[in-house]
Amino acid sequence: MSARPTLSLVLPIYNEEPVIPELHKRLAAFLGDVGESWEVIFVDDGSRDRSREMLRALAEQEPRYKVVGFARNFGHQIAITAGVDYAIGEAVVVMDADLQDPPEVVKAMIDKWREGFDVVYAVRTKREGETFFKKVTAAAFYRLLRKMIRIDIPLDAGDFRLMSRQVVIALRSLRETHRFVRGMVSWVGFKQTAVYYERPARFAGETKYPLRKMMRFAIDGVTSFSTVPLRFATWLGMLAGVIAIGAAFWALWTKFFGTGVVPGWTTLMMLVAFGSSAQLLMTGILGEYIGRIYEEVKRRPLYLVSEERNVGENDERGPRHG
Ligand code: UDP
Ligand code: MG
Repeated sequence: MSARPTLSLVLPIYNEEPVIPELHKRLAAFLGDVGESWEVIFVDDGSRDRSREMLRALAEQEPRYKVVGFARNFGHQIAITAGVDYAIGEAVVVMDADLQDPPEVVKAMIDKWREGFDVVYAVRTKREGETFFKKVTAAAFYRLLRKMIRIDIPLDAGDFRLMSRQVVIALRSLRETHRFVRGMVSWVGFKQTAVYYERPARFAGETKYPLRKMMRFAIDGVTSFSTVPLRFATWLGMLAGVIAIGAAFWALWTKFFGTGVVPGWTTLMMLVAFGSSAQLLMTGILGEYIGRIYEEVKRRPLYLVSEERNVGENDERGPRHG
């Protein structure tokens, strides 16, 4: 059985062919002088390009490079989960493969960990090479989310963070299907702190988070930690009630003291439109939650692994199939 390394790096990989050679270079340089024992866990999230072959070749030369290959694309958050399941290090660092999370920041994280912190998350003081739209929507989303939930999710931090073994073990016990990992890490608690860095642009290739995926991610974030949207129904209902009372008085007034009852068509249309759109909105929100309940009760494995490289037979890890 391999001895437990101090540091595990977890890198989710989805179609990162143009990035992998540079990633390897930067990792090798960093790990060469980090002064800790280490392992790297590449989780290939069902890439369709040559990423898997390239990772295999790297693992061939470097036994401390471990590869966990998914049977298909399961998504970024699930890939992180698998990496954390497989990691055996004393401290586990999750980082993006596109070099937007520079390995050099990990040094500062290790220092904080040695000071006694269990979670060290990296806060972006600046984001380069990302669209204005992404920056604005992300900033608004996290501020809104914080208002809706009770746990303290740090602002302007992604999944780039170091976790102690204790936190890793705690995190492994959360097996929900719809995962908002950064929220889950906050939820487990322990001693948490931040380091700050300027986030560079993606080294090469394109973002794997188009608007559609970003929306789904945001909805997962809200629904996994908050039921506030379900309460909208109550608020909307109350608002509609107040409007209805006002409208009733107005209708009576026009009937008895006004010009007659036929005018009022516009108001009627507006009230009907408001009422039915509020109902549809609430049905939609209910549907989001019910759909998630359905997904969770199926109890499917979170991921399926089709290939492992350099993963020791005796390495302790989470369930192989999620
Ligand atoms: N990723 C993944 N599975 C996916 C999408 C992304 O494993 O379905 C990986 C991707 O290879 C990268 C990380 O998740 O290492 C973050 O993705 P990306 O850089 O595209 O997101 P962005 O930085 O644009 O938000
Ligand atoms: Mg990126």
